[in-house]
Amino acid sequence: SKPVSDKILLPDGAMLPRLGLGTWFMGEHAANRAEEIAALRLGVELGMNLIDTAEMYGEGRSEELVGEAVKGIRDDVFLVSKVYPHNAAGAGLIRSCEASLKRLGTDHLDLYLLHWRGTIPLEETVEGMEALVASGKIARWGVSNFDTPDMQELLRIPGGNHCAVNQVLYHLGSRGIEHELLPWLSGHKIPVMAYSPLAQAGTLRKGLTENETVQRIARGHGATPLQILLAWSIREADVLAIPKAGTRQHVEENAAAGKLVLTSDELWQLDDAFPQPSWKVPLDMI
Ligand code: NDP
Repeated sequence: SKPVSDKILLPDGAMLPRLGLGTWFMGEHAANRAEEIAALRLGVELGMNLIDTAEMYGEGRSEELVGEAVKGIRDDVFLVSKVYPHNAAGAGLIRSCEASLKRLGTDHLDLYLLHWRGTIPLEETVEGMEALVASGKIARWGVSNFDTPDMQELLRIPGGNHCAVNQVLYHLGSRGIEHELLPWLSGHKIPVMAYSPLAQAGTLRKGLTENETVQRIARGHGATPLQILLAWSIREADVLAIPKAGTRQHVEENAAAGKLVLTSDELWQLDDAFPQPSWKVPLDMI
């Protein structure tokens, strides 16, 4: 087992925690609001001080909730938001970014991502993102749901190499990126931000948490199967994960999973139960 550093260093010197906080579907129900805000604030306190949101989430409601959660602690948080592909150039990009900043109650984002690839030429998105950096509205930019050919195209564009991260789906039940994308990104010093690291909720996750190997390893660590999933997702040096948790209890469990180190033998057992594909598969997305 290799001890993992609890931080990821970006080429520009910024430090990212290995575990952050997802916020999709937060801010949707008034009854959950106070607990969701408390969960985010506790997460930041416990060192999961990266919050991921998007203009898409609840059409701004997630960003508004995050804005409330970071009141008074903005500077302790690495704030990430995303732009819709159809807004990702020119005046539309500036408008989207400014609207996100307003909802978040801040004057800058630490990272702004293109949510997924649309029809706007990448050159225009890069140009717009670089202009946002120059104006101080964002500190850096990146992409999401980009497969290897998309990344290769991006890096051929002037300024494209400023891409700070690629946020993609990654969990024990979806290991496609390990075949090509993950090594390619590591080679280019672009960290992976793993989304849905707990495989969301539902039958796919059940197949993971009810798996015998996962359960045995969990028992050995006095941990839950979900904590094993989370620890697994950040076992590589260049991967951080952003689980979404709407309660303080869940946040505490997730933060504790960040301290859990799986042995190489346990990693072999998990490889055996959930093999990595040995061929190139298209990038999984939600
Ligand atoms: P996750 O894999 O993070 O799973 C979230 C679910 O797990 C919620 O139902 C949550 O419940 C539950 N959960 C969290 N912690 C625990 C725990 N300790 N015990 C039991 N249940 C737990 O799914 P997401 O899809 O939300 O992914 C995480 C984040 O990634 C998103 O919120 C979003 O920020 C980002 N994302 C980005 C995408 C993109 O295209 N770029 C696509 C999808 C996600 P509860 O809320 O009750 O705690």
